[in-house]
Amino acid sequence: MSSMVIPVDPFDLVIFGGTGDLAMRKLLPALFRRDADGQIPATARILGLARTDQDTESFKAEARAALHKHVAVDELDSIALERFIERLSYLHIDVTDARAWGELVSYLNERPEHIRVYYLAVGPALFGPIAQGLAQVGLATTKARLVVEKPLGHDLASAMTLNRELSSVFNEKSIYRIDHYLGKETVQNLMALRFANALFEPLWNANRIDHVQITASESLGVGTRGSYYDTAGAIRDMVQNHLVQLLCLLAMEPPYKFDADALRDEKLKVLRSLRPITGRNVLTNTVRGQYLAHGPDAPSYLQEVGNPDSKTESYVAIKAEIDNWRWSGVPFYLRTGKKLRAQMTEIAVVFKEPAHSVFGDLETPSMPNVLSIRLQPDEGLQLVIMTKDPGPGGFRLRAIPLDMTFAEGRGSNWRMPDAYERLLMDVVRGNQTLFMRGDEVEAAWRWIDPIIEAWEASGLRPEGYDPGSRGPIAAVEMMARDGRRWREIEV
Ligand code: NAP
Repeated sequence: MSSMVIPVDPFDLVIFGGTGDLAMRKLLPALFRRDADGQIPATARILGLARTDQDTESFKAEARAALHKHVAVDELDSIALERFIERLSYLHIDVTDARAWGELVSYLNERPEHIRVYYLAVGPALFGPIAQGLAQVGLATTKARLVVEKPLGHDLASAMTLNRELSSVFNEKSIYRIDHYLGKETVQNLMALRFANALFEPLWNANRIDHVQITASESLGVGTRGSYYDTAGAIRDMVQNHLVQLLCLLAMEPPYKFDADALRDEKLKVLRSLRPITGRNVLTNTVRGQYLAHGPDAPSYLQEVGNPDSKTESYVAIKAEIDNWRWSGVPFYLRTGKKLRAQMTEIAVVFKEPAHSVFGDLETPSMPNVLSIRLQPDEGLQLVIMTKDPGPGGFRLRAIPLDMTFAEGRGSNWRMPDAYERLLMDVVRGNQTLFMRGDEVEAAWRWIDPIIEAWEASGLRPEGYDPGSRGPIAAVEMMARDGRRWREIEV
């Protein structure tokens, strides 16, 4: 049970790609949980849409199986489950066939007063055609909301084309570009921490902060996504969207109010202040890696994607610098990779050491204060501070984490909501605060494109790294050149 539930207005939600992985693994479980918590009004409906020729009953059976698989048993209250399943319908439509849209129009016109949400859980090549299709049959109304998710373009040019295609049909205020990292409770708590407390903001600048590390480490390889992943790589798959968004929330100036455009204006300023990494700078400010094989049962990246010549990176580390007054001289180190030591996403704000240590001759040296914001596993915040080791003998210092875990004090049946729960309800509410605006996506590509171009121009291959390791040696060296170390990748 989540804390406070405010029901949303009645809606019809159409999941284009209703039979796919995203729908079954993330969207339906999130909607079920919101329904079980009483947030979804009685008349709301959910329509799965895909080409597979099946009827509503078999779609319901598929959805029921997915919920049993992806929702914990103690959350699957049978009354709530049946009520949710009854909301579901299915249409088999090939969205590329213009003649096929009539049934969707009839379905939605049964409830003209409902808010309409079109969630495009299909490949990005279909985003433009679906938007056009909706317009042609009169479904791109003022009450409609279009939801799209990464990949939002492959580079700046394709992102601009996509933005043009969507905005030729939908107003920017009706387009919801999801980055599910922004729906995570910890990420929103980062904003509360910064802007609802007087404590941190005076420290939040180059005078007090030494550097920032943002890590998204995965323990698995590319698996079945190999053919897509090899065209993208870690920089497009993770950095351009998730890591850069986290960097923006950390680095932005306080918005004048907690409002979608005020917040997004501030994020955009950060994106525009990112120092370009071009030419030979890629050799010093970035590192690329590819995981190696580990025995016959653990194939290398190249074997998994079936492309022995691939130069696509399964690991990337970037030293990003923000050219503005607040952050001048404070590096933001970003790293993400597959087949690393552990599954972990963390933002670490590493503060400067005290100007002078009065404990200079102690055996246990002082360590910098670190604010660690964990996105997974165990979402929460920790502030590492130095304390005196208790006991009468001597005076030793000890680094102690002050745990600010959110579940604390919430009762035993509280659970951390999934990001999609929050984001889906925000779409229905018409709140775009946690969604990316088109100009943000383009600004992020404007910073990413030259890095990829410089990699290509260098002709160099990514460095191999052992599966289960911390990544390429060159990434450790990049930090060492700056007199710093990466934080441990651990759960
Ligand atoms: P998926 O499992 O391949 O599902 C694609 C869905 O689209 C299926 O339901 C498919 O059903 C339907 N579809 C394909 N062509 C269609 C057409 N012409 N007309 C109507 N329906 C069509 O893919 P996914 O993993 O769910 O991902 C969907 C999108 O979300 C992708 O762009 C992906 O990059 C993005 N995404 C996914 C995740 C995730 O966790 N899976 C996370 C972030 C972003 P039929 O074959 O029956 O038509």
